Amino acid sequence: MQSGGGIRSLPPPGRFLVLVQTTIAPTVPAASATGFTSLALHPRLLEAIAAEGYQDPTPIQAKAIPPALEGHDILGIAQTGTGKTAAFALPILHALLARLPADARPQPGRRPSVLVLSPTRELAAQIGQSFATYGRRTPIRGAVIFGGVGQGPQVDAIRRGVDVLVATPGRLIDLMEQRLVDLRGIDQFVLDEADRMLDMGFIEPIRRIVGALPVKRRTMLFSATMPREIERLAEQLLDSPTKVSVAPAATTVERIAQRLIHVQKASKLALLLHLFDVEPIDRALIFTRTKHGADRLAKQLRAASIGSEAIHGNRSQGQRLKALEAFRSGRSPILVATDIAARGLDIDGITHVFNFDLPMEPEAYVHRIGRTARAGASGIAISFCDETERGLLRDIERTIRLEIPRGELPSSLPRPPKPAEPSREERPERSSGRGGGPRGGGRRGGGRPPKNGRPAEAKHDSRPPEHRSTAPSASAAKPANPRGGRRTAWRPFDKSRAMQAR
Ligand code: AMP
Repeated sequence: MQSGGGIRSLPPPGRFLVLVQTTIAPTVPAASATGFTSLALHPRLLEAIAAEGYQDPTPIQAKAIPPALEGHDILGIAQTGTGKTAAFALPILHALLARLPADARPQPGRRPSVLVLSPTRELAAQIGQSFATYGRRTPIRGAVIFGGVGQGPQVDAIRRGVDVLVATPGRLIDLMEQRLVDLRGIDQFVLDEADRMLDMGFIEPIRRIVGALPVKRRTMLFSATMPREIERLAEQLLDSPTKVSVAPAATTVERIAQRLIHVQKASKLALLLHLFDVEPIDRALIFTRTKHGADRLAKQLRAASIGSEAIHGNRSQGQRLKALEAFRSGRSPILVATDIAARGLDIDGITHVFNFDLPMEPEAYVHRIGRTARAGASGIAISFCDETERGLLRDIERTIRLEIPRGELPSSLPRPPKPAEPSREERPERSSGRGGGPRGGGRRGGGRPPKNGRPAEAKHDSRPPEHRSTAPSASAAKPANPRGGRRTAWRPFDKSRAMQAR
């Protein structure tokens, strides 16, 4: 798929450009050698799949692609990481190619016929990238539109003509109100991560957008969970859908080697630096509970000569994209993130996930560690539990119905004190959807509904900064000589290994 200006402005341009260059290469290894051939996809798509190194369809792809190719509506229950993007992108591209003449060239000025709605900017960018990857041997054009950045380049891309529009609801409605986007040609519509959409308060915007779409269309709805509200939404949006689902998070979790280490709060950084020396890390995602904590830890790691970046809701869109690109490219092998900033993150080759702080929501534990087990790869998840987090640990273990195997604290570090109640002092970066606070309790959608029925794009960005944190100061948490003379033990990001891990 050729990109409109919208995609070009997205992260990480590097990957997309590299992939475009590979199209110059002669013939791609026999697509027929892959398990995808039985799916009867267009040969150009099979070539792109083979070039990506995919061997077999993932379970959600094997189940969703055949009925989708027949034009059925799809109700898919699958999480990010299962390969669900290709499960809808491939049949969509196939349908677009089926109506193009073989020698078709990109047609300037045409209006989109495919709309994919995503709850967050990051996920929208990733979906756009997937379309670009799978469609790169085709004249199909796409653009991604989301808030938090100027609308100019996105509008230009739409004006130049696109087939596939990937959008977050807020920006799309903005452009609809300004009559800058015409949805009357949409005949394939995807609502991705529908449960998150609802959690984030996007139900009204979705209804408005759907109201602007032609009635005669094919719709696919994907959701990680299927609460009543989603069932109702699916009944309204889908016409006799084929229902496909893949195993819930628990099976993903089984592929991950999990470990939990009890450690004093003040020794967490020292423990992390110790693990960096002994673990074979290519690329690691580290979760902290607060935005302030994420910034502080990234700074401490950089002070210890470890390339790291932080992403969280207080960072500007540009800063986030830059940090993600540094992480994705391997320039910065460590990404420190809060739960919300990491939503929908899909980065291959993450060998380790560290829970520097345990999450307040037990379900977030599963989402966090799943970042290291993308599409069949396995990974390592190491969680720290300090004296204030034992209640959170109990909740997590109850939720995953598993006692996480305990890891050893190095003898150089002090043992944690006796169990204590979890501290409520350090506030997490709140989930937009769960009402915030340790156990939610607020209204869905997080507080007061917006006046115009349209929540701000990726609401977490607009939330007030963290005001306080009682985590130890940098000087308290920092060991006397964090890396000592062991710096050489750090293995920089190794792309070939990361590719193997896929
Ligand atoms: P998704 O669930 O769509 O976010 O996909 C998760 C990851 O799986 C992405 O990095 C895809 O590139 C990768 N992926 C998707 N389908 C396959 C496949 N059939 N084989 C290997 N990797 C895949």
